[in-house]
Amino acid sequence: MIFVFTVDTEWDRKPDKNRNVTVRNLAMLPRLHEICVDAGVRPTYMCAYEVIADKEFCKFGKAVIKKNEGEIGTHLHPWTNPPFFLDLGERLSRTPFPHEYRLDEFEEKLFYLKRELEKRFERQRSYHAGRFGFIPEHVSVLSRAGFVVDSSVTPHVSWKNVSGLKKNSGPDFSDLSAMPFIWKTRNDSRLDILEVPVSILIAYPFLYKIVRQFMGKNIARCFGMHPLWLRPLPQTINYLEKIASLGTKQRYPVLCMMMHSNELAPGCNPYFNTQDKVELLLKRLKTFFIFLQKGGVEFLTLTEFAEKYKPDIHKRIAQ
Ligand SMILES: [Zn+2]
Repeated sequence: MIFVFTVDTEWDRKPDKNRNVTVRNLAMLPRLHEICVDAGVRPTYMCAYEVIADKEFCKFGKAVIKKNEGEIGTHLHPWTNPPFFLDLGERLSRTPFPHEYRLDEFEEKLFYLKRELEKRFERQRSYHAGRFGFIPEHVSVLSRAGFVVDSSVTPHVSWKNVSGLKKNSGPDFSDLSAMPFIWKTRNDSRLDILEVPVSILIAYPFLYKIVRQFMGKNIARCFGMHPLWLRPLPQTINYLEKIASLGTKQRYPVLCMMMHSNELAPGCNPYFNTQDKVELLLKRLKTFFIFLQKGGVEFLTLTEFAEKYKPDIHKRIAQ
């Protein structure tokens, strides 16, 4: 089993009252990173445009690469990422999904971010869409930009009732599983992109499918059948361990856990709103990483996993 840990490295979740985008949560990243390094975990920091302006973060990111302790990837927040096609108030209040932009606008934003990240860090190979706003039409754009792996899919989860620029405009991944797969490009298989979905698992997949199909998602939920996210939320102490064990039992080749950097700062996320809760989160992550380490799990960054899982991607990375 391979374990990939992605951290959406981004703003403090909301603009301040003067509509400034702040990133004070980033000051906590070195503590998270230390826990990762101690256990051998190789985090992939998926960076949104707004973090580039933070000098301390840039130093941190450069050191991570220099010491070969992780990866810097791309995380597109269209509402903070130039070029802008909407006015400030509209984009900060509605936080549009990337797929709500025209494809040429999406492309301009993506290339802008990639260029800025590459100037400061390293070649960009891995991508994660802001608010999971990913559609298959993005694959060829990502591929042209040199990306080889995406991790925007949230299996068994629909964001259809979530609003961005328009009402109820989120993507729907409810029919996909957590198994990695290839997004095909129309003309050239060498440009395909590997999808490594966030590990969202179902305890009894066959039963879940039947109940969901005939009785609906809400009834399935009533029977305790619901998607289990491999995400450090304030759950019982062994929640993460249970999902990891389920992943092993169901023979997934990789566990892909995600979190947001702002979950490390009270006041910047809905789950960990006091310093004590953040300390508990860090303690649980440490316990979980040691559990994985003792279980003989291999730790890779997102691009390292893509290289290993799909060797022809390796050839493109080497170019
Ligand atoms: Zn984000």
